[in-house]
Amino acid sequence: MGSPTGFLEIKKFDRTYEPPNKRIKHFKEFLIPLENEIVSKQGARCMDCGIPYCHQGCPVNNLIPDWNDLVYKHEWKKALETLHLTNNFPEFTGRICPAPCEASCTLNLTDKPVSIKSIECSIVDYGWKKGWIKPQLPITHTDKKVAVIGSGPAGLACAQQLARAGHQVVVFEKNDRIGGLLRIGIPDFKMEKMLIDRRMAQMQSEGVEFKSNSEVGKNILVEDLFEEFDALSICIGSEVPRDLDVPGRNFTGIHFAMDFLTQQNDKIAGKKNNFSEITAKDKNVLVIGGGDTGSDCVGTSIRQGAKSVTQLELLSQPPEAEDKSLTWPNWPMKLRTSSSHEEGCERQWSILTKSFVANDKNEVKRLNCVKVDWKKDDNGTFKMNEIKDSNFTIEADLVLLAMGFIHPVHEGLIKDLKLDLDIRGNIKANETDYKTSLNKIFVAGDSRRGQSLVVWAIREGRQCAYSIDKFLMGTSNLRR
Ligand SMILES: Cc1cc2nc3c(=O)[nH]c(=O)nc-3n(C[C@H](O)[C@H](O)[C@H](O)COP(=O)(O)OP(=O)(O)OC[C@H]3O[C@@H](n4cnc5c(N)ncnc54)[C@H](O)[C@@H]3O)c2cc1C
Ligand code: SF4
Repeated sequence: MGSPTGFLEIKKFDRTYEPPNKRIKHFKEFLIPLENEIVSKQGARCMDCGIPYCHQGCPVNNLIPDWNDLVYKHEWKKALETLHLTNNFPEFTGRICPAPCEASCTLNLTDKPVSIKSIECSIVDYGWKKGWIKPQLPITHTDKKVAVIGSGPAGLACAQQLARAGHQVVVFEKNDRIGGLLRIGIPDFKMEKMLIDRRMAQMQSEGVEFKSNSEVGKNILVEDLFEEFDALSICIGSEVPRDLDVPGRNFTGIHFAMDFLTQQNDKIAGKKNNFSEITAKDKNVLVIGGGDTGSDCVGTSIRQGAKSVTQLELLSQPPEAEDKSLTWPNWPMKLRTSSSHEEGCERQWSILTKSFVANDKNEVKRLNCVKVDWKKDDNGTFKMNEIKDSNFTIEADLVLLAMGFIHPVHEGLIKDLKLDLDIRGNIKANETDYKTSLNKIFVAGDSRRGQSLVVWAIREGRQCAYSIDKFLMGTSNLRR
């Protein structure tokens, strides 16, 4: 720790955003990066705790106190090397991670946490700027071949680790572009796609081969992969969305969030689609469901020129602030207001959608809703009750369903292989070896743990790579 009294003397300072009235006019990133000198000072707020709770709160176990100290001492290159020891893609997490590390930071108990996420992002962005991030070629190559199925953050992390262990790695991706939800789900205003292109180029130089338009279980037979490769890593995400089974669900103007978000990302990428466009322009938009997906629908609708945007949540409104004495160092349940919410959205909680109402052209026009309350029953389980006479309607001519994802697609790959599933319909494997019920087939990311976060996908991809390397070679030097 460079400055033992830094946390007493220096106030927390963090990245700011371009103002809402300016940023809603474009789809570019709007985070304003910090000057290195400020980042360095923020690093000095770290107390280098004996038990670094931040490190424990971080799914990839980033060596946070170490790089905080290095940044304080202006040793940026060493900080970058330390950051890359545990995280293949810190420029992704430095932008879109909810930062459980900051919730866990000891300073968060009595003050504001160290600006860990901003420091992480500054280190890696500076590393790219200085040209320090280069392909890491293996010292020796093995004769082993691994197929990675799916190119989201889990597949990318797994592939990069295995290539660095000297194996020949091919990534099969059903979409025409690489990156999974990073590419086609998460809007450009949260994370611009050149960040993925840059990492892809690094991975290609390290020997990873990418095959897009290759859906395993459809135009690529899994039996052929089984023959050709020594191990398979399934990283196909959790793509089946939760539906809303109420009268009127099939009216036009009601869409799954991903159909809407993917179209916008495709448009920015210059891709021409041959289906009719879903647009929020001049519409009353209703987003059903909170979470990242719902919030991204809000920000995208506002940028497309929606007349109004309302977001409904079935659960009750969480408290504005957590009681840290009860929640720290865990991730607290509290009201989270995203940058998209700040851009102009009405949020309503404890609302149940009963049915949709359409005009004579079958176009959705209204929702019939009812207010609910949540009370614990005798067993301590929260139960939802409709509040009598609380029915009301909301105008809507575009409804976006953002109620989460239930499990990976079972048709094709999973059914063909007859893989064992867990009770939630995810591919069954533990967090130690990531082995599925079939020999030489492994699984990582959302398709194993269920819908989650980019940082968890990176962790699982890395750990799965370690397990595959050990399976192939008997031992592994990869960092988990
Ligand atoms: C709209 C949205 C916003 C989000 N925002 C955030 C955020 O801000 N921060 C955050 O941390 N997390 C966020 N998440 C969650 C995060 O994106 C996921 O947890 C993460 O991408 C999961 O990574 P993955 O590699 O397991 O799967 P995915 O990213 O889903 O990638 C799976 C890939 O496998 C491919 N695939 C599927 N089946 C096959 C097949 N049979 N053959 C070949 N390829 C196949 C898919 O096309 C896809 O490219 C968001 C999710 C969504 C939907
Ligand atoms: S918990 Fe906070 S103060 Fe302690 S080592 Fe981690 S970042 Fe530094």
